[in-house]
Amino acid sequence: MEIKKIAVLGAGDMGHGIAEVSAIAGYEVWMRDIKQEFVDRGMERIKQSLVKLQEKGKIENVEQVLARIHPTVDLAEAVKDADLIIEAVPEVFEIKTQVFAECDKLAKPECIFASNTSTMRITDLAKATKREDKFIGLHFFNPPVLMKLVEVIRGEKSSDEAIKIGVEYVKKLGKVPVVVRKDVPGFIVNRIQAPSGALLMAIIEKGIAKPEEIDAMMRKMGLPMGPFELMDFTGIDVFYHACKYYAKTISPDYEPPKILEEMVKAGKLGKKTGKGWYDWSAGRPQIDMDKATDKISPMDFSIVEINEAVKLVEMGVADPQDIDTAVKLGLNRPFGPFELASTLDEDQILNRLNELAQMFGKKIFEPAETIKAKKLKKLLEKKEEKPSEEFQTIKIEKLGDGITKLILNRPDRLNTISVQVLDELDKAITMLWKDDETRVIIITGAGRAFSAGADLSGTIITHPFDFVEHNRKGERIFRRLAEIPKPVIAAINGYALGGGFEIAMNCDIRLAKKSAILGLPEVGLGIIPGWSGTQRLVKLVGISRAMQLALTGERITAEEAERWGIVNKVFDDDKFEEEVLKYAKNIVERCAPISMALIKRLINKGGEVPMDIGMEWECTACGVAFATDDMKEGISAFLRKEKLNFKGR
Ligand code: NAD
Repeated sequence: MEIKKIAVLGAGDMGHGIAEVSAIAGYEVWMRDIKQEFVDRGMERIKQSLVKLQEKGKIENVEQVLARIHPTVDLAEAVKDADLIIEAVPEVFEIKTQVFAECDKLAKPECIFASNTSTMRITDLAKATKREDKFIGLHFFNPPVLMKLVEVIRGEKSSDEAIKIGVEYVKKLGKVPVVVRKDVPGFIVNRIQAPSGALLMAIIEKGIAKPEEIDAMMRKMGLPMGPFELMDFTGIDVFYHACKYYAKTISPDYEPPKILEEMVKAGKLGKKTGKGWYDWSAGRPQIDMDKATDKISPMDFSIVEINEAVKLVEMGVADPQDIDTAVKLGLNRPFGPFELASTLDEDQILNRLNELAQMFGKKIFEPAETIKAKKLKKLLEKKEEKPSEEFQTIKIEKLGDGITKLILNRPDRLNTISVQVLDELDKAITMLWKDDETRVIIITGAGRAFSAGADLSGTIITHPFDFVEHNRKGERIFRRLAEIPKPVIAAINGYALGGGFEIAMNCDIRLAKKSAILGLPEVGLGIIPGWSGTQRLVKLVGISRAMQLALTGERITAEEAERWGIVNKVFDDDKFEEEVLKYAKNIVERCAPISMALIKRLINKGGEVPMDIGMEWECTACGVAFATDDMKEGISAFLRKEKLNFKGR
């Protein structure tokens, strides 16, 4: 079933954001709340956010998106003819089930129902309707307009079709769906944090350290906010209710301590009421860093989260790869629990979990079966073996006729190159290397940049040698573009700076939009063009111009780059994509694949050896080409004046 009309119930923090991202993706959206003022406030927030997105060049036209959102207080109007209903009303079971029961009567039979609940079992909510098979969880993260992750939760009765529709919808929003295969409290991201929350409470309850001492310790480690300040920020009541819910559904070990209950009763709910763990009446609390405690280890929080992640795998909720993806995207962390576990000693994890379980008398800290059996490393090895089916930072589009587009896909960060981009690029090159359907590769960027260079955020570099290795890794991966036995075209659609320029330099042909800008800004940042910039540029333009670009950080236009011989052709902005495609098609139709692979290798490698040796290689390559069916096809088609039909054999 194709989703066209979406009803979002609730215009609060989450509802307005979900309505906004759905409208940006092109859906017609009805946003419903119980009072006109709530709907109006939701629309106002959407408007403000869209204006900001337009200023940043992320959307074309505010009015067009707004025209797709229909605010209403009338439930029947909102859900009539809707293909998908997403509920984002308060986290109260009775309110949610009442809303769903009403919708069940008003919506068409094939309409899919989804809840954005943070904690409740989808299976239990679905029971309020007569369409449990068409009921799923779609758990967005706050704010939906920025956060990439959406957990797609399978209730006990959810059909494959409903999950598939949920996944497709999330992808169309440009977000990353992670399917939660089993309906457990907290799903993946919140569930993994549950034991570290319980550990915090246990530490406070035992008087081992005070909130400010713990926050100071975490801030010293580089976190922007300590866990208690964060709790104040999101609401003490939210945390309290989550603990209560986990105590009922997972283990009584999650029962919140008395102090938390007293705070809720006294209305000390954090920032929103002016008091929580801290006094917020004069703004953000000042944390005294000198108070950082040394009585607890920050690693303990990671260890209990790793333990919970392993338990989720054992329960069949998700595999390690998906859990790492969900935690990284849902919590904006550089590492997932399994990635972190791979850097730790298995015995250290096991022993510490046993100690924590004993110290606090909590079973929830007891090691998972896999950890007890010392099979964690095996589990991690399995994760390595399973290639990710989904790319998050790049996109591959097969355009037919042997043309494949590889898109650097972080438009909100100008397609800057993070470690994840490097890894995914590496994987994509391997995939396309073997892919018979791909004869020509076009690399380009999503949005207005090709790529604005390296992104080091989330990279742990503690020693200069780490940086050496990081650079070598980039060089190695980019170099594979020069080695893959198929032509690679860089379609430079905007800024190609630093690492972005270096990717383009490693491609075989560079086509640029007239408005594109190229440059190596590294010298102005106190670094050097480290992903082959200094080496490849000399080969392209000679020492004099390479010096000019790399030594001064000067930026040049596409037309200048064409004059210098860096760019092969420049096309007008409005015709760029069409012209690039035409160019690639022409190659596929006229050029024999094996000849191209050999020529590419001879030109790239030949320049690195004495000419005489290069000539020898050339003769051998001629012999190889001579023995191909494609040579026979080339010559006979020429003689017959017929269309070529190369097979790459
Ligand atoms: P919110 O209080 O900001 O918004 C809830 C809105 O629902 C309010 O505007 C309220 O008037 C409206 N509402 C109440 N009854 C309604 C009804 N019968 N029909 C339509 N609207 C109704 O809450 P929120 O933070 O947007 O949370 C909504 C849901 O999303 C909750 O289930 C919450 O657990 C979940 N969630 C929240 C976050 C977060 O960080 N805020 C993150 C993920 C999921």
